[in-house]
Amino acid sequence: MGSIASNLQHVRQRIAEACATAGRSTASVQLLAVSKTQPAAAVREAHAAGQHAFGENYVQEALAKIEALADLRGSLQWHLIGPLQGNKTRTVAEHFDWVHSVDRLKIAQRLSEQRPPGLAPLQLCLQVNISGEASKAGLAPAEVAGVAQAVAALPRLQLRGLMAIPEPAAGFDAQRRAHHALGELLAALRAQGLALDTLSMGMSADLEAAVAEGATLVRVGTALFGARPPAAGA
Ligand SMILES: *Cc1c(COP(=O)(O)O)cnc(C)c1O
Repeated sequence: MGSIASNLQHVRQRIAEACATAGRSTASVQLLAVSKTQPAAAVREAHAAGQHAFGENYVQEALAKIEALADLRGSLQWHLIGPLQGNKTRTVAEHFDWVHSVDRLKIAQRLSEQRPPGLAPLQLCLQVNISGEASKAGLAPAEVAGVAQAVAALPRLQLRGLMAIPEPAAGFDAQRRAHHALGELLAALRAQGLALDTLSMGMSADLEAAVAEGATLVRVGTALFGARPPAAGA
């Protein structure tokens, strides 16, 4: 691995090439740098190299980094991409800009009630268990429309779209299939009148396939920061 700055340049190049292949503009895909298990210093380094949006999985770990980087807060966007328990919603509502991992109406209702009125609306994606894995978080595809309509009506939140972590698949075509299914679900919600613009899908190993299927936000960790130490847990 190179420096964070050179990795960032390389990942941006991968996104640009995937966009060119798909006939999409590079500006249509946002890069979310997944900084879970990485120290605040790594986030600071990526920020200095021009990266502003960061994804975290564990609320307590994220909170420590958000505090350590309070001097940069105005130019950082914090996205929660990991599982969210009911007892952590207040902290999340008070400190994050986005949550990608909402998979129950109850969680969205708590975030709505707890989002401080002085902050911009919390930006939300619904997580979908797109590969139908028994062990995975996320709404079943058939549940998404009902929950989306209810979440879209809540104050102090803005429902932006859908997020998925597909089962790892080898080969471009296999990777595309799950991403395609998530894109179809988003299109169906839009056809029902929901103003959604975000498809959060694609990681270090499959961002090209995700961009080919319409991803508007790719979540990249390892390709930017290198291999992670084993997670310490939430
Ligand atoms: C860790 C993680 C990523 C980044 O994965 P890499 O393979 O390191 O790019 C993306 N999305 C979610 C939800 C994650 O937990």
